Amino acid sequence: MGFDVDLFVIGGGSGGVRAARVAAAEGGARVALAEQSRMGGTCVIRGCVPKKLMVFASAFGGALADARAYGWEVAAGGFDWGAFRPRLEAELDRLEGVYRGILGRAGVRVHDDRATIEDAHTVRLAAGGRVSARHILVATGGHPVRPAIPGAELGLVSDDIFRLEALPDSILIVGGGYIAAEFACILHGLGVKVTQYYRGAQILRGFDDEARGHVAEIMRASGIDLRVGTDVTGLERDPSGGVRAHGTLGDSEVFGAVLFATGRAPNTAGLGLEAAGARLGRRGEVAVDEWSQTAVPSIYAVGDVTDRMALTPVAIREGQAFAETVFKARPLKATQAQVATAVFTQPELGTIGLTEEEARALGPVEIYCAAFRPMHRAFAGRPEKALMKLVVCAATRRVLGCHIVADQAGEMIQLAAVAMGMGATKEDFDRAVAVHPTMAEELVTMRSPVRVA
Ligand code: FAD
Ligand code: NDP
Repeated sequence: MGFDVDLFVIGGGSGGVRAARVAAAEGGARVALAEQSRMGGTCVIRGCVPKKLMVFASAFGGALADARAYGWEVAAGGFDWGAFRPRLEAELDRLEGVYRGILGRAGVRVHDDRATIEDAHTVRLAAGGRVSARHILVATGGHPVRPAIPGAELGLVSDDIFRLEALPDSILIVGGGYIAAEFACILHGLGVKVTQYYRGAQILRGFDDEARGHVAEIMRASGIDLRVGTDVTGLERDPSGGVRAHGTLGDSEVFGAVLFATGRAPNTAGLGLEAAGARLGRRGEVAVDEWSQTAVPSIYAVGDVTDRMALTPVAIREGQAFAETVFKARPLKATQAQVATAVFTQPELGTIGLTEEEARALGPVEIYCAAFRPMHRAFAGRPEKALMKLVVCAATRRVLGCHIVADQAGEMIQLAAVAMGMGATKEDFDRAVAVHPTMAEELVTMRSPVRVA
């Protein structure tokens, strides 16, 4: 049977664009892609990229203070969101153009439209028309979720932050994950009075306990009012124009704005997947096997919509593996053993491998850990300490986990990931000669364990 295209990709985000380009440019496939919003998806338009640019913007306050300590004459001034936002938007426009260019050069036909699945080989476009496809790739990503509480619609979600007309004077951030912690630091750095509520005992659940405790401590010391064991039960518009938040402790407080950073859910509603025979999981995620294939052999899914690991490089890997397998006859599984990741708090938390808690549960470990005032901060009179930690298997000597809390921890953990991927032992780390004076040299100079467990 002849199909209109070999591949129809639904979603022009990290995973979809990579799969479309590789299938078309390297696999020789006839490819179409539908994007209902802006090309580039969450990462480029309302995720990693604008977030990281805001991280950079927010770090200048501290850098200016440091500059004075280093002898620069710096005139005091405030952050001007009105000056920053148009520049941010211009950069996102530019990147969106880059993504469109990538697809255009690869010969991918783009439909700026919402697409849904009609059956195993047919995609329907909202504006009208059907396209038949040998393979369909669902790469529709996810969206932020508000908790089901009264007045929840009065709260912002991360998508809204990038589009604010003006920054609020104060904000309550609800949640304790990546987005909550990152935006607490960003907005605090931009001069907003930040309060953060997290329902559990410690933010950044799932990360190494010592590392997340260290991040929380620095956030508090920097002036963020981080409250754990508390949650919001409802929101109301306050006559002042702000939002009144009622808390689980019976308290109530008015904030300029409330941000829900309470997780994301896969974009599968109304997509037609179940009718076509694919299975959805409990959270609405597309159920796939290690090849990213659904129960329908012609339908695959990659990225956040599968709720595996919601990170851009993972979505890209999955998109690449799909295209290699299906269009280049090079079978490649999408699943990753170890993924390095960074939380862009200030300072950052970079991490790869097992936490101390996970490793201890598997067998005897040695813990190497150093907390110290980095040179550049100590000179400027800043008290925050950096933390470097290695979790080592006592039997095999392999480094099972590496956790760094420091400026540029994201950059450092990327390189540690190479060594860890090669199965590096503690002795391999020790063999590396230190680069001096750096923060990362601590990773190769920790001689005695602080704990054996
Ligand atoms: P997406 O990038 O979400 O793309 C899906 C696309 O599909 C969207 O453009 C959507 O409009 C489109 N779409 C949906 N339904 C349809 C339809 N029916 N028809 C047509 N088009 C459709 N990850 C990191 O690795 N590092 C970070 O620093 C980082 N920071 C983040 C910060 C924030 C605030 C957020 C929200 C996320 C962040 N992430 C980060 C996560 C990262 O953005 C995602 O993991 C990644 O974008 C997922 O890519 P994807 O291709 O699966 O989906
Ligand atoms: P996360 O799943 O990381 O965190 C959600 C947070 O909200 C958790 O602290 C959770 O608490 C809390 N929560 C969930 N539901 C409720 C509720 N009803 N009431 C109160 N609190 C609630 O989601 P994020 O939205 O922060 O980010 C989504 C994903 O995007 C991340 O997991 C990550 O994969 C990706 N991302 C990656 C970034 C990076 O690489 N730097 C940056 C930003 C996002 P609990 O812990 O108790 O479940």
